[in-house]
Amino acid sequence: MSDLKELIKTEALRSGFAHCGFTRNDTLEHLRPFYSGFIRRNGHVTLKYLESNIEKRLNPGLVLEGTKSVIALLMNYYPPEIIPQEDNFIIAKYAYGMDYHLVMRSKINELIGFMKNSRSDIQAKGFVDSGLVLEKTWAQQCGLGWQGKNTLIINKSEGSFFFIGIILTDADIEPDTPETDHCGSCSNCIEACPTGALSTPYQLDIGRCISYQTIENREDIPEELKSKLSNRIYGCDICQDVCPYNRFASLHQFTEFLPSEQLKKLRKKDWVAMTEPDFNRIFVDSPVKRVGFHRLKRGFL
Ligand code: SF4
Ligand code: SF4
Repeated sequence: MSDLKELIKTEALRSGFAHCGFTRNDTLEHLRPFYSGFIRRNGHVTLKYLESNIEKRLNPGLVLEGTKSVIALLMNYYPPEIIPQEDNFIIAKYAYGMDYHLVMRSKINELIGFMKNSRSDIQAKGFVDSGLVLEKTWAQQCGLGWQGKNTLIINKSEGSFFFIGIILTDADIEPDTPETDHCGSCSNCIEACPTGALSTPYQLDIGRCISYQTIENREDIPEELKSKLSNRIYGCDICQDVCPYNRFASLHQFTEFLPSEQLKKLRKKDWVAMTEPDFNRIFVDSPVKRVGFHRLKRGFL
């Protein structure tokens, strides 16, 4: 089905994805010991959803019956303009604009519609952060990047500022070549991480990661880590900012991901003075909304 592969790839790139790759639905059974050990030693801290659906994550055929191929898609979110960090609290670049789930889901659904229009007998299902597929593993298998020492997918030509989407399909599509590791002797991310969350290369200590603490943790941020947040109040890009491959990041072209004028103007005193109605207005379509006003303010009050 090489015609179908070219059709899908061309349409994916036309619709705004930066990279699109393909692989066969081979078993991920070899990852079972790692995941079992990870859950057993409570590596997932409070992310309880990681305890369920392990069978489905290891076997996409349980998610979409008859899955033969996996398609990985990367959507660039590196912003054309960085919000000033001086005298400011910092949010991760992926959260500058509209919630990416909305944008990605709509683009993936369009691509699935295109696939079904091209071949009416195709079954396909799309995923963005669903907890049902191992996005990073599939992105590497599809040749789009490797999982770096900071545990993120690094694309050799454009770095790591990408959202990952996955499509499972029963179409049998010729696979691409999996990507290999190109971190080499670099250890920039490990050295730059303010909390030591990458002290074991290629493994994230989730509980020490600023992203987890400022976004996922519903309890108080431990005092020892609070003093290391480096003004981050929603997410943390430090281990990406220092990655040499991100010197080649292309600027995204999505107006949806641009920050509002209100967000760009905020400085520390404005964050401190922000009221709940202000928060709801500024972050109406933003991923930041999901932490809520009170949890956001934990990071600096
Ligand atoms: S996101 Fe920040 S805290 Fe988490 S591993 Fe990267 S540098 Fe460390
Ligand atoms: S900073 Fe260096 S070690 Fe870390 S992910 Fe990038 S290339 Fe790999």
